Amino acid sequence: MARYTEASCRLCRREGQKLFLKGERCYSAKCALEKKNYAPGQHGQSRKKMSEYGLQLREKQKAKRFYGLQETQFRNLFDKAARKAGITGENLLILLESRLDNVVFRLGFASSRKEARQLVVHGHFTVNGKKVDIPSYEVKAGDVIKVKEKSTNSPKFKEVKEMSISVPAWVTVDVEKLEGKVVALPRREEIDTPIAEHLIVELYSK
Ligand code: SF4
Repeated sequence: MARYTEASCRLCRREGQKLFLKGERCYSAKCALEKKNYAPGQHGQSRKKMSEYGLQLREKQKAKRFYGLQETQFRNLFDKAARKAGITGENLLILLESRLDNVVFRLGFASSRKEARQLVVHGHFTVNGKKVDIPSYEVKAGDVIKVKEKSTNSPKFKEVKEMSISVPAWVTVDVEKLEGKVVALPRREEIDTPIAEHLIVELYSK
């Protein structure tokens, strides 16, 4: 377990930015980035000027790690974003935000996207009354995400009920009912993930 903690934090150190992969720890003084704000490895503290390609690659890696996707999943999502009307980079971010695991995290039902993914896989949620255990499930405007009746008494969700949760404007949450709604898909300006999506578009357009 300790090894895994280190592995997650190394990803943040590599990107030089908090990716919020460890839940509450990320908001505390225990965050590895608070203590070692430089890349891991022997040459982590030496600053090198990055090439244009390097910057684009790092931005893609950062986005991928932020949302916890594998390379192929990320590429497939990018291709889907490119096929849609509108601006590809924005489409990509909206598709990433529309994943069920991300929405569960945004609703405050999990302390990190990683935890949200586990909760979804373990079948704790319904979407519009039907059980969905696929983290990549794409939610739509109007969808209602709810903790399954059988799961509401678990310590995890009892804890959630005690919390005061603030959510982005594109979702609403009823903590008492452990239920949330996607009011509308987010607009670009409503997505606070620190990603320069144009760099990812440039990378994949080579
Ligand atoms: Fe580790 Fe979270 Fe800090 Fe990243 S933000 S270094 S995952 S504690």
